[in-house]
Parts: sequence; structure tokens; C-alpha cells
Amino acid sequence: MPEKAKKKQSSRSKRTKTLKVSNQIPPKRRREIEKALDAHEPSRPEWDRLSGSKQHRFFGKRIKPGTIRQIEFPLLDVKLGDSWPTSVTIIHGRRPGPTITITGGVHGDEMVGQVAASLLAQNVFTGAGRPLDPEMMAGTVRLAPVLNPPGFTRQMRYFPDGRDLNREFPGTEMGSTTGRVAHRVLKELITGSDFLLDLHTAARGRDNLPQVRADLAHPPSNRVARAFGIEVILDSKGPKGSMRRAAADLDIGSLTYEGGGANLTDHEAVQIAIHGVLNVLRSLHVIPGNAARPKFRLLASGSTWVRADEGGLVDLFVGRGSFVDAGEIIGRIVDPQRPSESADIISPLRGIFICTANNPIVTPGTPVGHLLPVNRGIKLIRKGLDKNTNRLIISGSTGEPIWREDFEVEEIMIEGEWSGGAVDAEWQRDWPTPSEKEHVEASEEEDAD
Ligand SMILES: [Zn+2]
Repeated sequence: MPEKAKKKQSSRSKRTKTLKVSNQIPPKRRREIEKALDAHEPSRPEWDRLSGSKQHRFFGKRIKPGTIRQIEFPLLDVKLGDSWPTSVTIIHGRRPGPTITITGGVHGDEMVGQVAASLLAQNVFTGAGRPLDPEMMAGTVRLAPVLNPPGFTRQMRYFPDGRDLNREFPGTEMGSTTGRVAHRVLKELITGSDFLLDLHTAARGRDNLPQVRADLAHPPSNRVARAFGIEVILDSKGPKGSMRRAAADLDIGSLTYEGGGANLTDHEAVQIAIHGVLNVLRSLHVIPGNAARPKFRLLASGSTWVRADEGGLVDLFVGRGSFVDAGEIIGRIVDPQRPSESADIISPLRGIFICTANNPIVTPGTPVGHLLPVNRGIKLIRKGLDKNTNRLIISGSTGEPIWREDFEVEEIMIEGEWSGGAVDAEWQRDWPTPSEKEHVEASEEEDAD
């Protein structure tokens, strides 16, 4: 090999080593995923739509086909004290099909999933002729919008014992308070589901680009992640003790949706969550219609946290979804006590911010952004950026909300008369050929009085 080519190759391999290629899953992982998909045999038989409908059971209750039931589900098994009851809405389709469980509020201060799952239980979705009309459904949807009621009330991520529910799965019956909740949620709500869609936001102080996280080497999770119809998918098993990891261990196809930040009802993130849920249900043929698909998917196997190296107040020039080049200044840190000085924050790589800080106070080491390095498909990605903000447009964010009620639609009356012929007049015949035209004109003259 010529010296020059060798040099080129070594610099390239060095680069791929230091930068994890995001929208290109490394070959080893890709082989792992392909092997898993090939070898997959569903552990439960595919639902048989011809076998007739059965009652759905949840927490000792029976739900008839073609009906909706709201059930109070206590998260703790107690005689005394608060059992933290939470509402689970079961929409049980007229015809048999898979069971999809949608959860929100595992972290009590994350509102997006709680709003999205609550909206899905409302009449605008479940009413006659609406997307989740049980008469039209083949399968069952379980909606549990608030899985951490004490955290929701106190606007806290954690349970009152200071534990994170999403690190306590599978939990035990005799363990810590949060561990008992995890055990019960897994046993009663998650078990018996074919798919789990767990809706989250970024933790306090940060804002997430709407995205999905799933273990792509787990075939049912891979299927449901793609079906969501979103641009960014992070290939990860999920943290130890997380609900989706515990669900995948039971061979339940599971994903985490992340969009927006804690303590905020982010309209765009809610809308994309609902868009994704309906895409999954369409893709699994639970509800009629075609699932929307994005123009491209970034399947990411790596990311980088960009951190502040100085302390003070940060002015970030980027937000969630911003596309940046390596070396670009993405923010500036100032110290109000030393107002004449400042420090720039430089992006180390070209990529997309899948998360940015929305709390300006930083100390050295505070993450200000979560960057997805991108070095393939740049042209395609650039086409998907908002021209004004240079941020990635996520599918489902631009359409009108489908939960708009009929009375919310403004009707503008245009008054007048249909003059110059009836509305459909010009479609009644083909445009005449030149010779016909003469004939037409002649006959029109004849008609003139
Ligand atoms: Zn969360």
C-alpha cells in the first residue's frame, strides 16, 4: 500500500475510534442486532384475530370487548396509610389483538407523558369514530398516566423514600417502598402486555429533543422503536433497574420516549408523543390507517456530553435539535462578578444536540448539551432542518393537533353567488380541440339571443 494511502487509512480509523459514529451503528453491534432479529421466535404466539374476542383482565377486573373502563390501581398493598391509587384506563377493542401499555409520570415532575397519556384517554380519542374507538380496535390499550402519584403531587422526580422508580425494577414485595411499587407495577400492569411505551422528559434543568430509546437487538423493541415514526433512535438497553429494561427481559417490546423537560407541558413534545403512539398502534394494526414514517432515522450508538469548563452563567446559542459543526461556538459563559471576562463553549464535533441545558447556572463540569455526533447522511439531515433556527424538525411536530374538537374550528363564511357557471361546470367535458373549439363557439353563438 502506498505511504499516502496508508496514512489516509490510519487517520480515518483513528477518527472512527475517537468519534463514535452516531447514525451508523458499529459493524459489531449491527451484526449482533441482525443475528438477534434472524433468530427471534416470539415467546408468545402472534395474536389470532379470528379466534374471537375475549374479556380483558386487569387487577382482578374484567373488561368486555368494545368497551372502556377506568380502574383505580393502588401502587402499594396496605390496610393502613396511603396506597397511592392511580388511574388505569383500559380501552379493550372489539376484536382480539396485542396489548399495548402506555405509561407516564414514572418521574413525578415529568409532565409530557402524563399529559399525553391523559389526552389519549379522553373522548376526543376514544369517542365513536375517533382514533381509539374500542369498536374499531383490534387489541387493547392500557393507559397509566401517573405512575408516581406522590411525586406528581410534590412535583418531584423521586418517591417519598428518595428512590427513583426507574432504577428499582423488577423490585420485590418485601423490599423498599419504591421497590414494592416497582414489583406491583411490573406484576400487574406490565406483565400481560405485548408492548410498553414509557413516556418521559429530560430531568430538571434540561430540554430533550423528542427521541426514542430502545434495545435494537431485542426484536420486539426494535419493531416498536421503528414503528414510532421518529427521526432519532438511541440504541441502548436502558439503565439497570429501569422499567423498559425489566419489560424487555420479559420479552415485552419496550421503548422510552423522551421529549421536553421536567415541570413543563411542552406542547410540541406532547404532540410528537401522541403521533408516535398512534403510529405504533397503526403499525401493529390495532387501529386502522397507515403509520407515518420519517424521511430518515438516526440510529445512534454513541453520544457525547458537552460540559462547561468555567463557572458562571451560560448563554447558549443552541437548543434541542440544533445542528452544529465542529469548532462552532455554541455558548458563552460570563461571571457577573467579573463582567469584563467571558469564556466560549466550543462544539467538539459536528452533530445534533439531542438535549440542551435550560438552567443557565454552571460550574466546571456541568453538562450544557448532549451531542449526537453525525458524519453520514449530512445532506439529508440538512434538508430536515428548520431554515430559520437550524434545528431538526421532528415528524409529528408540524401537523395540527388531532385532538382539536369540532367546536374549536373557526368557520369563515364567504358569501356570494355561483356566477359564470355552476361549480362543476369546467369538469363536465374535455377541453375542446381547435376544430371542436370552432364548433363550440359557433353553437354558443347560436344559443345567444
Ligand atoms: Zn424520566
